[in-house]
Amino acid sequence: MTLRPNNLHVYNTLTRSKVRFEPLAPPAPPANRRAVGMYVCGPTVYGDAHIGHAKSYVSFDVIVRYLRYLGYNVRYVQNITDVGHLTDDADQGEDKVEKKARAERIHPMQVAEKFTRSYFEDMDRLNVLRPDISPRASGHIIEQIELVKRIIERGHAYEVGGNVYFDVASWPQYGRLSGRSVDEMVAGARVEVAADKRAPADFALWKRAEPGHIMQWPSPWGMGYPGWHLECSAMSMKYLGESFDIHGGGIENQFPHHEDEIAQAEAATGKPFAKYWIHNNMVTVGGQKMGKSLGNFITLKDVFQKWDPMVLRLFILQSHYRSPLDFSDEALGAAKEGLARILGLSERVVRVLMQWPGGQSYPIPRPSDDRPFVVEARRRFGEAMDDDFNTPLAIAAIFDFVREANRSIETQTLSRDFLHSIYYALFDLCEELLGLRAGTSAAASQYVPALVQILIDLRNEARAAKNFAQADAIRKRLDEIGIILEDTKEGTKWRFK
Ligand SMILES: [Zn+2]
Repeated sequence: MTLRPNNLHVYNTLTRSKVRFEPLAPPAPPANRRAVGMYVCGPTVYGDAHIGHAKSYVSFDVIVRYLRYLGYNVRYVQNITDVGHLTDDADQGEDKVEKKARAERIHPMQVAEKFTRSYFEDMDRLNVLRPDISPRASGHIIEQIELVKRIIERGHAYEVGGNVYFDVASWPQYGRLSGRSVDEMVAGARVEVAADKRAPADFALWKRAEPGHIMQWPSPWGMGYPGWHLECSAMSMKYLGESFDIHGGGIENQFPHHEDEIAQAEAATGKPFAKYWIHNNMVTVGGQKMGKSLGNFITLKDVFQKWDPMVLRLFILQSHYRSPLDFSDEALGAAKEGLARILGLSERVVRVLMQWPGGQSYPIPRPSDDRPFVVEARRRFGEAMDDDFNTPLAIAAIFDFVREANRSIETQTLSRDFLHSIYYALFDLCEELLGLRAGTSAAASQYVPALVQILIDLRNEARAAKNFAQADAIRKRLDEIGIILEDTKEGTKWRFK
């Protein structure tokens, strides 16, 4: 597929500006496709995913979907952190996965496996496409050790008694991403400083395993385990090359995590690491930061008890990924109504087509061209997405489109081509790009009317053969699943209860 014309601009945290998106790789023959490498920091798997994860991964999912729609050949890598992430997010504290394992009296790898599965289960329900590669930190210890060796060789890290630290003083570019000075960063982090560090800002690349530490590996510096930041530098470069296009993650990880990733990678290779840094904002609850200790921690499994995952998805996309999102039941209620309006139009179009004289062919054919208001909706949608993935504006364009389409259906003489055009605008923009789907995908739900018609035909055949018991059974069983049959002069019609 060749690249669609676009004017995509993205906000790059590294330069603090919105810039034209230009991938590193030149277009590749024969199809003029351009490769895009994208890495997003994945979850630390020691508990169920919460609404903050949903905002992050739904946002990056739509970014990947839009890049692919434009024709970019995206390789999307998102890691699974199963070792080395300590409880204070820096160099002190206990490994989060090991701590959970101790509390549950199971092996750390059981914890990691359980919550990796739980994470993907929740993301599947949110219709977040799986990353192309989901590398585990514990599966890339060799790559991480090799990276530490390169950093030491180039004079940017030092070993003390089995610990290896990055020498921040040797790396003047440190602080470029977060825009903070080393002093500010040290003061802001408020971490307990390990006694063996040369300077408080130095961070661990490799940690010596204390007695009783389960997840540990042999290394040139003795038994130990990698520092949390190391895995992302090692695994992104393994699968995307030493320089790649997009690195994404939560705004709270700009420092120290992403700052350290850049230092490690560039100190080892001497090349620029990621070209574009994209950061999504956080979720608040009642205006408060969400946290386990604050008691306002909401897991996705809790949300899904009450709300359709697609309602949460629409709610997330109705704010910009760089804006904070305040979670409340009222706001989700509004999103539920919005979702019903969009999906209602899709169902309505399919129903009208179903009752069309002469029937409808499946799959629904793509129209040769679109009516002006459909063209306008697609244009507005693309313009919004080109402006740093502005999903709230794109969704506003869809709501205007839904209103206009409903009005046209009510007031105009309809053609099948016109209905097909509405159907595919909804399919392309809402389902394929925004990932909003009805209970089943639109591709599958278009068959519902056809299946009901088959049952109506069988019932009529039963009646013609005077098999009234069979005919009644068909009507009764459809009624049980919420589909009503009505016999009229024009034949049998159906509707949802
Ligand atoms: Zn990371």
